[in-house]
Amino acid sequence: MRLLAGAGILAGMLLVAFLFLQGGALDASATEAARRLLPARSDWSAAAPGAVAACLTLLFALLAGRVLRAVRAIEAEEVATRRRLAAERERFENLARLTGDWLWEADRQGRYTFVTGAVATYTGRSPAQCLGFPVSSFLPPEGALELDGLLATPPAPPGAHVEYQTWCAQPDGREACLALTAGPLRDRQGHWSGWQGICRDVTEAAHDREALRLAKEEAEDAALDLERAATRANEMAVAAEAASTAKSAFLATMSHEIRTPMNGVIGMAALLLETGLDARQQEYAQVIQTSAENLLLLLNDILDVSKIEAGRVDLEEIDCDPRELADSVLELLAVKAQEKNLTLAAVIDPDVPALIRGDPTRLRQVLINLVGNALKFTAAGEVVIRMGVDVGEAEPDLQVAVADTGIGIRQDRLDTLFEAFTQVDTSTTRVYGGTGLGLAISRRLVEMMGGSIGVTSRPGEGSTFRFRIPLRAAAGGATSPRSVAADRARAIWRDAEAAIEVANAATAAAIAAHLSTLGLRCRAGDGAACAPPAVGRRRIVVTDDPAAAAGRTTMPDDLILACVPAREWAALPPGVGALTVPVRFGQLVDRLAPVGKAGDVAGFAADVAATVADLLDLAEAKILLVDDNLINRKVALGLLGRLGLSADVAVDGREALAAFKRGRHDIILMDCMMPMMDGYEATRRLRRLEGGGRVVVVAMTANALEGDRKRCLEAGMDDYLPKPLRREALAAALAAGADRLRARDAATEPAGAT
Ligand code: ADP
Repeated sequence: MRLLAGAGILAGMLLVAFLFLQGGALDASATEAARRLLPARSDWSAAAPGAVAACLTLLFALLAGRVLRAVRAIEAEEVATRRRLAAERERFENLARLTGDWLWEADRQGRYTFVTGAVATYTGRSPAQCLGFPVSSFLPPEGALELDGLLATPPAPPGAHVEYQTWCAQPDGREACLALTAGPLRDRQGHWSGWQGICRDVTEAAHDREALRLAKEEAEDAALDLERAATRANEMAVAAEAASTAKSAFLATMSHEIRTPMNGVIGMAALLLETGLDARQQEYAQVIQTSAENLLLLLNDILDVSKIEAGRVDLEEIDCDPRELADSVLELLAVKAQEKNLTLAAVIDPDVPALIRGDPTRLRQVLINLVGNALKFTAAGEVVIRMGVDVGEAEPDLQVAVADTGIGIRQDRLDTLFEAFTQVDTSTTRVYGGTGLGLAISRRLVEMMGGSIGVTSRPGEGSTFRFRIPLRAAAGGATSPRSVAADRARAIWRDAEAAIEVANAATAAAIAAHLSTLGLRCRAGDGAACAPPAVGRRRIVVTDDPAAAAGRTTMPDDLILACVPAREWAALPPGVGALTVPVRFGQLVDRLAPVGKAGDVAGFAADVAATVADLLDLAEAKILLVDDNLINRKVALGLLGRLGLSADVAVDGREALAAFKRGRHDIILMDCMMPMMDGYEATRRLRRLEGGGRVVVVAMTANALEGDRKRCLEAGMDDYLPKPLRREALAAALAAGADRLRARDAATEPAGAT
């Protein structure tokens, strides 16, 4: 039995072995073999152990088959997994290659355990050559040391990375900026086992960053520079403002300090000249006065230049009448022209508007300077102002020319003439005097007005100075008394024509231009006055020969105007009107459309008489003179004496108030700058003291700068007289004061009083 069982076992084992060798596919034959191996039912008891063994063998065989199948499946799976891994790896490497980055893993010592192909680009070594070498081996020694240090320990907080960036030389020789990012690798237990990282070429980004940094730095530097420049500009502006203020203060002081003694010199010389001197003394006194006058002109010019240089001249923008401007210049310089027996005329085109926009004071200053020069440098002949409008391509210009028949200017000096302190040659200075500042001031003023100035000249024949400024229309609707009078003259003489019989061509042209402006048709020249006027027309005859004019038969409605010097006015035949030479537009308009003093052709003389009458009135008035300077007091008292007037005296504001309390004066001539109490304060107190505001206070000051007048009026003064004092100006101020007094007294007289 035992033998049978052993055989069974052996057979089973053989079968198992066989089946094992045949694999799972032999399951059926194994079953069959097992059946054969099993003993018949009748032998069951004897064969039981063998059967058990056979069963076990069978079972074992079955199990072995299963195991075999499982092993084969696992093997297939493993192969598939390996293939998949290889594909994954290939894909990964392809992707890694595409990025150009080099990916790596390293052990805890920082030595490569894995690295992608891109490493070769940056280190010149293949991945295989890199394995086992430190990741830092691509760096120069100090960089390597630094990176080794970073990779020696894992980063402290979980999830942290090591970031390292450096510039290093590449195998191709170029410098590249490489950025390394590494994270720790951990084993299943979470222990740090090494590194996993990526190296990337960030050269371009680094360049961009560097460029950005540089640009930012530059921008910051520029901002800093700008800030510094702004600070500096501010400091300079403050310094300039301080300097300008100091300069203005200096100018004001200098002007005041020089004017005070000048007042003494000019005033005393004027008084001296009226004291019956012999011829030599008269000449000496005259020289003193002329020199002092010149010194004063120089002072004014220097002040003007300084003000223009300091940018302290603000041009006015008001409506002004160009003809009135020319009239005032003629009026001022007529005496000078007469002294030299020169013709002076202003020919103003009818198309020059009645009103323009600009600064009349400064325009007048330029004109006075040019005409003054022309008169100065002309010995015989004429000085003619011409004004016209040039309708150019762009904006129209007002053109002004001043032509003379004087000494002329050398061609080579024309360019520098408008520079300050320039004169054609110093010998002319000795002969004619002057500072060389007038033209420089004129040019600056004309340029400030947006215009230009120039000169043409021929030595021995004369010079023509021309300036042009943009012609700006007057503000709409504005009219001047002058234009109202001109309109009236136009209406009165609507149906008239004019005949001009004046020998001097410039004067005749000036009259013709004025009459055309008034809408009159003119005929000029010899016999013009004899030609009969058109039927039904009245006639205006302007002649320089009053006797001839008077002898002519004129129609009853004719107006005869004689253009003769004032001294001949008295001898004019009755009915003949008078015109002064140079002929002024305003005077012509007055003659054609007289207002108030209708028919009073010698209105000028009447004005003079009125002034004298006013002064006679003043002989009754009580005058108080307040000035701290002895010489100034003497000058003022002397001038008052020449006008037949006297005055009480006070030497400062306090004394003035005390004197007024005692004397109740009518007119006070008040100096402004005085010790103890100045004229402004004294006037303010005086106004409070008297209550009614009757007393007339006339400022008398050497502060001749712009704004001084305003300051005086604000302090409560009525009028302003700049020093040096002139007799005419003093007389005019006193006459105006007398008018004021009369008006104030009339206003306060009780109703019904006679
Ligand atoms: P000033 O007349 O005070 O010397 P300006 O600046 O007005 O100063 O003139 C400068 C110079 O130009 C004069 O000194 C003179 O030599 C020359 N000049 C100016 N106007 C004329 C003129 N109309 N005829 C000749 N020379 C002139």
